[in-house]
Amino acid sequence: QHHPERSTVHVGPAGAEVAIGPGTFTLLAGPCAVESAQQTLQAAEMAKAAGAKLLRGGAFKPRTSPYAFQGLGLKGLEILADVGTATGLPIVTEVVDARDLDAVAEHAHMLQVGSRNMGNFGLLQAVGDAGLPVLLERGVNATVEEWLMAAEYVAQRGNLDVVLCERGIRTFEPSTSTTLDISAVPVVQATSHLPVIVDPSHAGGRRDLVVPLSRAAIAVGADGIVVDVHPDPEQALCDGPQALHGQELRELATACRKLPPVV
Ligand code: PEP
Repeated sequence: QHHPERSTVHVGPAGAEVAIGPGTFTLLAGPCAVESAQQTLQAAEMAKAAGAKLLRGGAFKPRTSPYAFQGLGLKGLEILADVGTATGLPIVTEVVDARDLDAVAEHAHMLQVGSRNMGNFGLLQAVGDAGLPVLLERGVNATVEEWLMAAEYVAQRGNLDVVLCERGIRTFEPSTSTTLDISAVPVVQATSHLPVIVDPSHAGGRRDLVVPLSRAAIAVGADGIVVDVHPDPEQALCDGPQALHGQELRELATACRKLPPVV
């Protein structure tokens, strides 16, 4: 839809909304997967201490292997909601199936559609009807145009509160789990009014790349980043090698602040 100026998306309860959009650089952080109440609370406290404004954690985890940890489901949503209340951080979590939508929407302030579901048009339409802001990951095999058309499926339902998330695309390069398409940020901003953030954790799949990729995201003018953090990454049930320890997350936040955002 035509929209002459870049948008800001507001997430969270009325009166305490978090802005994602031009003029701000928003840190979203949390555990890749909700594993327990204690782990989620610790991760959320680490996120908050580093300056994160939103808690992102997965209760429903789409995994490549059906034998891998799939998330705690409804129990995970309840943990997220409790931890959100305890820390004051609004919740962002993924919905993988339209049948779970009501339950997820009841516990979350923002609905994430993951890379694997970016082209799931029925889910996008259902999410568009849910009345909550949406975090739309780019599919690893999707062009920018396909990604923007996925956002249109949400917008067509009357929901313009969509934040795009560049999380890497599949290339021939095996040293990172995907290749962060950093050019996608200004390319999207040239054609879309929607905010765009970067996920340096899933893009690289490597803890040591999270800071440099985050700095790249700031330098290129992204509206924020979403970062995995875990109190004990070595024991994580999902994507431990990319999760930051608390100290690393604090260093990341400091490193980010030293680089002025693009205006
Ligand atoms: C995630 O954010 O937990 C995730 C799995 O991201 P993506 O869908 O981009 O892989």
